[in-house]
Amino acid sequence: MGVVIPLDRICVRSGILCPRCESRIASGEYMEWEVRVMKALLDLEDRIRGSVEYVKSHRVGGDVVVFLRSSQGIPVWLGQELSQRLRDLGRVYVVEYHKDPRGLASSLLRPARVVRVDESYLPDGSTILLVRVDSRPKPGVEEAAKRILKIVTGKDVSIEVEARPSTSSVEVERRDVRGILDKLGL
Ligand SMILES: [Zn+2]
Repeated sequence: MGVVIPLDRICVRSGILCPRCESRIASGEYMEWEVRVMKALLDLEDRIRGSVEYVKSHRVGGDVVVFLRSSQGIPVWLGQELSQRLRDLGRVYVVEYHKDPRGLASSLLRPARVVRVDESYLPDGSTILLVRVDSRPKPGVEEAAKRILKIVTGKDVSIEVEARPSTSSVEVERRDVRGILDKLGL
């Protein structure tokens, strides 16, 4: 329960890191500015139900992507609070962390449903991640999802809407039959 962070709570709270925490930053495992993200989470701990685990944050252009694991989903207010507290770092996206691209894509692209995630090979030998969804996400959501998926998978991402039959063929056939019967006055 509560907030789980990879560095010592006392170090993050005080801002004075012990040699062990310091070495995890020196090694590049975590960035110095991520201590602020962890501190913001600790400050909000009393309001968090269930448990939230800090995984990692990334800075991409002017954006900050914060990956968290949570037992009960990430509440909207938590994303808003972190955005406000870390505003000077950039625009903040709080994302539920999933190791597999499909789970991650699903949480990023909601309410669009992810049908399939495939890797597709390009002529130059590189791979792109092809995410097929059942409906087109909002442009802002789609762009953010692509960027975040690229951070996690290291691959360029293409999001495509999979054509789905709007009515089943059986229904269409039935309707045709009905139409014919109507025309015949039966
Ligand atoms: Zn420490």
